Amino acid sequence: MGERTGLNKGLVFHEKCLSHETGNHPEKKERLVAIMDFLEKKGLLAGLKRVKARRASVDELAINHARNYVSTVKSFCEKGRGHLDPDTVVSEKSYEAAQWAVGGVLEAIDGASKGIYSSVFCVVRPPGHHALRNKAMGFCLFNNVAIGAKYAKEKGMERVLIVDWDAHHGNGTQEAFYLDSSVFYFSTHQWPLYPGTGSAQEEGEGPGKGYTLNCPMPPESGDEDFFKVYDRDFLPRARDFDPKLILISAGYDGHRMDPLSSLKLTTQGFAELTFRISDLSRQTHAPVVVVLEGGYNLSALAESVAATIEVLP
Ligand SMILES: [Zn+2]
Repeated sequence: MGERTGLNKGLVFHEKCLSHETGNHPEKKERLVAIMDFLEKKGLLAGLKRVKARRASVDELAINHARNYVSTVKSFCEKGRGHLDPDTVVSEKSYEAAQWAVGGVLEAIDGASKGIYSSVFCVVRPPGHHALRNKAMGFCLFNNVAIGAKYAKEKGMERVLIVDWDAHHGNGTQEAFYLDSSVFYFSTHQWPLYPGTGSAQEEGEGPGKGYTLNCPMPPESGDEDFFKVYDRDFLPRARDFDPKLILISAGYDGHRMDPLSSLKLTTQGFAELTFRISDLSRQTHAPVVVVLEGGYNLSALAESVAATIEVLP
C-alpha cells in the first residue's frame, strides 16, 4: 500500500463525447452533463487529475474490431441519422465521438500503466460492452473496455480483470475473451434481460475455460445479493488471478431508480462494490480504470458515479 501513496485519482471527460446525438433516446448526452455537473457541485472535481483524452486511431479500434466494420460505422454515421441496429441510433458525429471515448480509455490505461494514477474514472459515451467484433448492438459502437484490455496487454500488463456490473450482460466483451486465459471477465447482470447471453454455464472455452464468470441475478436483486456474489464467488478467484490491471464496465442501470432494469441496487451499494474492488486493487497492486456503460436515471447515475469515485483507490 505504501508504494501507492501519492498516486492520483484521474478523470477522463471530453466534450466530443457529447456530439454523439441520439435524439429521443435514453442513451443521451445529458447523462454525461449530469455527471460532470454533480461532480462539480459535490466538490469532487478539484481532487481529480484530468487525463487528457485523445481520438483513437483506426488501428486502435481494429485491436478488437474488424477493419471493414470500422469503415462501415464511419461511412454510415457520415450519412447522418440512422440505426446501426434496432437499439443503436447514430448521427453525423457519432463515429468521432466513439473514437474519443476509446481514446480516453486508452489514455487512462497509459497513465495507470506508468504508475501516474491509482485509478481513473472515464466519463465517456457511447458505451461499449455490447459491441461485437463486427456488429453494433445495444447503444454500443466500439467496445471501449475490450479494446482497452487488449491495448493494456500490448503494453505489457499481462493479466487483465474486467468487472462488469452493468444490469445487462456484456456479450461483446465476453466474446472478445472467451478463449483467452489472460483476461478474466466477471459479470453480474439481471436475468432474464437483454441481450440474453450470460448464463452461469458460459464460463469460457479451451484455454479460456474458467476465465469467464457469469453471475445472473434475478429481477429485484439488491445490494446484499450482489455483496454475497462478490464475496463468495468472485473475489477469491480474482485474488488467485492476480491481475495487473482492473477494468470496470460501470453501468448504473441496476440502480433501483433506473428505468431499464428491475434490479434494486442503491447508490451506497455501488460504493460498497467499488470498495471491494479497491481492496482487491491494493492487495494486487493493480490500478483500476472505470469505464462508464449504462445508467439512465440522471440523478441516480450522477450520484452513483460520485459515490464510486469517492471510494476508488
Ligand atoms: Zn446496461
